Amino acid sequence: MNIRLFKPSFGNEELSMVQQAFERSWVGLGPMVNRFEEEWAKFVGAKLAIGLNSATAALHLALAVFNFPKGKKVLVPALTFSATASAVLYNGLVPVFVDSDPVTLGMDLEDMKRKYDQDVVAVIPVHYTGHPVPMDQLMEWAKEKNVKVIEDCAHTSGAAYKGKSLGTWGDIGCYSFEEKKLMTTGDGGMMVTNQPELFKDVKAMRWVGIDKDNWKTAQEYTSVNKDAYHWYYELKVLGYKYNMNDLAASIGLAQLKRLPEMNRKRSEIIKKYLVGLENLKTIKPLLPFEPDKYVYQMFGVRVEKKEELIIYLKSKGIATGCHYTPLTMQPLFKPFSGKCPVAEKEYFKMITLPLHADLTEDEINYIIYHLKIFDAQSI
Ligand SMILES: *Cc1c(COP(=O)(O)O)cnc(C)c1O
Repeated sequence: MNIRLFKPSFGNEELSMVQQAFERSWVGLGPMVNRFEEEWAKFVGAKLAIGLNSATAALHLALAVFNFPKGKKVLVPALTFSATASAVLYNGLVPVFVDSDPVTLGMDLEDMKRKYDQDVVAVIPVHYTGHPVPMDQLMEWAKEKNVKVIEDCAHTSGAAYKGKSLGTWGDIGCYSFEEKKLMTTGDGGMMVTNQPELFKDVKAMRWVGIDKDNWKTAQEYTSVNKDAYHWYYELKVLGYKYNMNDLAASIGLAQLKRLPEMNRKRSEIIKKYLVGLENLKTIKPLLPFEPDKYVYQMFGVRVEKKEELIIYLKSKGIATGCHYTPLTMQPLFKPFSGKCPVAEKEYFKMITLPLHADLTEDEINYIIYHLKIFDAQSI
């Protein structure tokens, strides 16, 4: 056995879409990006979606649109991927780290309120593993304090919390299509909003400052068009090279069609894990997973003998991970440390286990079998 931790799931649809892009001979920013944006907006129930080359870029621009004065503070959970907090630094802002809820490991709203001060301008809740931050409570508080909310939805795509799609509760939602995520475009990301005026400069910001549809220009390049200035553009904002391209969008359109089915398969796998772990004494689910309600990019456990279990599973060909070393423990972010004792303590128990849509019944049973053996030997 050699079981991967994460693995993209591809079918013939993706290949066929890429082939069509080749036949069109248009693989940069183009019509497929537009189409993918429209379909993504519809899928999550947002008014506007803009495609990028990563969620990291999406988070960078999501903060940039507000033009906050340099040095203002942004609340971010300690237990997240680097990008959530790096986006704060890219914008010349200061991250303030928020501890984890001991049960869900998601951002602890009480700790968030404690760490708030007059300099806080935004908060970036992360739906950690896919388990939702209580957005109703968070939004009520954020409105009262006039704090902007950017949802990091890198671990969830297509789930709702209290009837409203995750990523549409806050001012802006950011999704990732990196290869380990729920669906992939190789690398890619999307940002959405229900306040389109917020995104008025984003198309220029993601495309080196140019707010123009290149594909449309190319279509209009015909003999009947007497416009000598079809090539002209104006630079009004500082742009980055953050655009999604048509190859990625083509893969994304095919993946999006299969996403509900891939999400359903993940939920089935999590249910099997939960049944398998039911009577174990030393290995517990990482958090109270609700696979019937939410969509999870990751599954994991908490175990005192973390290192022993990692080595044991390794010897059986089962990949493991740890998501994440709290950012407050990382040299880069130490200077900004808020105190996050829960995340820093639970970190020593956390193991991520294999989860992807194509994990087979045999593989799942094999992993559970070895978790049971390890548990029995640990007592
Ligand atoms: C993966 C991830 C990101 C970054 O996504 P990319 O598309 O790789 O830039 C941001 N936040 C979280 C929580 C992630 O897991």
